[in-house]
Amino acid sequence: MNSRLLLAILLYAAASATAALVQDKGTLDPQPLAPLTNPNDPHLGAKELFGRKALPAPSAVRSIGFYAKGCLAGAQALPINGKTWQVMRLSRNRNWGHPDMIALLERLSDKVHEVAGWPGLLVGDLSQPRGGPMLTGHASHQVGLDADIWLTPMPDRELSRSEREEMSAVMMVRPDRLDVDPKAWTPSHLLVIRAAAQDPAVERIFVNAAIKKALCREAKGDRSWLSKVRPMYGHDYHFHVRIKCPSGSSECQSQPPPSEKEGCSAGDLAYWFSEPVLHPKLPTTPVKPRREMTLAELPAACRQILIAP
Ligand SMILES: [Zn+2]
Repeated sequence: MNSRLLLAILLYAAASATAALVQDKGTLDPQPLAPLTNPNDPHLGAKELFGRKALPAPSAVRSIGFYAKGCLAGAQALPINGKTWQVMRLSRNRNWGHPDMIALLERLSDKVHEVAGWPGLLVGDLSQPRGGPMLTGHASHQVGLDADIWLTPMPDRELSRSEREEMSAVMMVRPDRLDVDPKAWTPSHLLVIRAAAQDPAVERIFVNAAIKKALCREAKGDRSWLSKVRPMYGHDYHFHVRIKCPSGSSECQSQPPPSEKEGCSAGDLAYWFSEPVLHPKLPTTPVKPRREMTLAELPAACRQILIAP
């Protein structure tokens, strides 16, 4: 990744980290978005186009492009109720993914039930029906291979529609942001994140740096899974699971495998606990709006996915 792109992603993430201090709620009465006056405007953000697609492109499954720059065909929906999971924020219509991701979530929720004693998982955003950039939140989640999982155990009952929109996950990080909150963090949280990291399909896991610090301190026995768990802005109510490009998906752009290092040294974490990251200064002058990723910047096949019936 070139350094300008990296910087852009970091700046975006820093901005959304501030916004993520309050968890977004959904609505019981989602309103359709107004039609676009000029959907062919070459400057239009691709999120405006992909954000208006309510159903997947009906074709063979394809994850096209990179996690933060791509789209998805033949997406499968994660059923909103499983034996060991429930989908949250149904109004967002983001429970779509590559079938490998759906299989991972089914497998992982079952494992978590077994190893951590949680009744199951509460699942947040996967991808939009055709993937692509989103109107709100997330730089990635574009190719059906990313999912957010709440750090709150699934209750032992079926949640109502309004609970799924309005219930809040539990903040895991202490107000000073330097460590996890002992009133919220439990040994079972480590077991859940470890179960995800130990799944061979999983490429990376993103958590808040305070959570990474706690995992480093508390992991016993085999610690090799820690190398997959990376600090990230936000991710203090939920963790983010990213799976590898599925085999045979030649259009999927993979990322380099994580290093073998645990990432637990003081040096590894120093950046995340530095003053500008812990307490980002709000800009004193109006910020120029970020230029939106256009359809032309996505892989060419994404145009076909978008216009498919
Ligand atoms: Zn995430």
